Amino acid sequence: MFKKVLIANRGEIALRIIRVCKQFGIKTVAVYSKADRDSLPVRFADEAVCIGPPPSRESYLKIPRIIAAAEITNADAIHPGYGFLAENAGFAEICTSSGIKFIGPTAEMIKTMGDKALAKETMKKAGVPVVPGSEGVIRSVGEAAEIVRAVGYPAIIKAVAGGGGRGMRIVREEGELEVAFQTAQHEAGQGFNNPDVYVEKYIENPRHVEVQVFGDQFGNVIHLGERDCSVQRRHQKLIEESPSPVVDDELREKMGEAAVRGCRAVQYENAGTFEFLVDKNKNFYFMEMNTRIQVEHPVTEQVTGHDLIKLQFRVAAGERLPRRKIVQRGHAIECRINAEDPANGFRPSPGRITDFHMPGGFGVRVDTHSYAGYVVPSFYDSLIAKLIVYAQTRDGAINKMASALEEFTIEGIKTTIPFHRQVMRDERFRAANFDTSFLDSFEFNPPD
Ligand code: ADP
Repeated sequence: MFKKVLIANRGEIALRIIRVCKQFGIKTVAVYSKADRDSLPVRFADEAVCIGPPPSRESYLKIPRIIAAAEITNADAIHPGYGFLAENAGFAEICTSSGIKFIGPTAEMIKTMGDKALAKETMKKAGVPVVPGSEGVIRSVGEAAEIVRAVGYPAIIKAVAGGGGRGMRIVREEGELEVAFQTAQHEAGQGFNNPDVYVEKYIENPRHVEVQVFGDQFGNVIHLGERDCSVQRRHQKLIEESPSPVVDDELREKMGEAAVRGCRAVQYENAGTFEFLVDKNKNFYFMEMNTRIQVEHPVTEQVTGHDLIKLQFRVAAGERLPRRKIVQRGHAIECRINAEDPANGFRPSPGRITDFHMPGGFGVRVDTHSYAGYVVPSFYDSLIAKLIVYAQTRDGAINKMASALEEFTIEGIKTTIPFHRQVMRDERFRAANFDTSFLDSFEFNPPD
């Protein structure tokens, strides 16, 4: 196992990784921007190195500073968490060439699967069902029109480098195509530094169901079941659960098998996620792969009993994956608690947390870096806590979540807690009768 690991991240995931290191007896190095000086990862790590001013471009995304921090502190591995440099092939490569183990897939795998168009092409070749659409990048409106005519409207234009629900345009009819195509290219160039786009069929009212996979260095690949992430706002996940209420044993078997086949095709190593769309007829289509640990990984941990971060360390250190078939038991739900005001279009609400009380009890888990007195910086994403519950049934989990949310007190800033409380009472949510458009027709009623 590694002796000293640098965590190239911040917030709850940095803390989560530090905790795992302590259990392994691995020394930890936190890196932090000036905005995170008083954060818990900095306090709980064995060593901490300031890597620059608050904007992430000048700190958490500054590769030379992070590598220098690892070299000064003599770290033998880096865990990138999620976001920031987690899916940056260049970073993975530099780690390797500096003699530091990148806890994740190789640069080559990130390159192939990180380009959404190339990933789809690769998966199609491997026999994984993909969303119908272009093969690779689309260069002209004419080319786009031809493909969309073949697959049928509506269509969606997506940035090959897109992420976080950004860089997508829906096209309902041919007349909208030209403007949408040009806008998408322009936005992709501005937002992701890469104007390349591709086009695919827009699946109406799908469920977002993703499969957690793992590969080790010996070519073994396993899957750990699925997560349903259909509760999204502007294509960003807000609530996740496992298992998915729409996936039966037969579909689980098929989706798991497809994901494992896809992994084998790229000889995938470490943690990854295959994101699929599932339509009303239970057809599933590969959308993209995430080559990192995901925010919503805890729901899988709760139902499988496996610590996925630990598994990442084990695989990276050269251990073999467990051979026993992994099964899902019970039901887990995660609510993302963001520093946002749901009464005002989910506007970010940074600032000082004046009071903070976490829920607890059997089957209640909170992954957070927040505390009373903590100042939520305005520079980063607004996730301040993840509330995860586990129960034997979906109904039991919903009731437990509702009760935990009632207890969860965060004062001083606005949060998404009141929004989640309302979703837990919602009839459609309780009946599992929803798709990715669920929140479009959901009206948040702020409590008095
Ligand atoms: P990102 O990497 O930004 O998360 P994804 O490709 O994972 O982008 O898509 C995010 C969300 O956008 C999906 O969960 C789904 O709700 C919606 N979406 C993406 N592609 C399609 C499609 N072809 N049809 C319908 N919805 C889609």
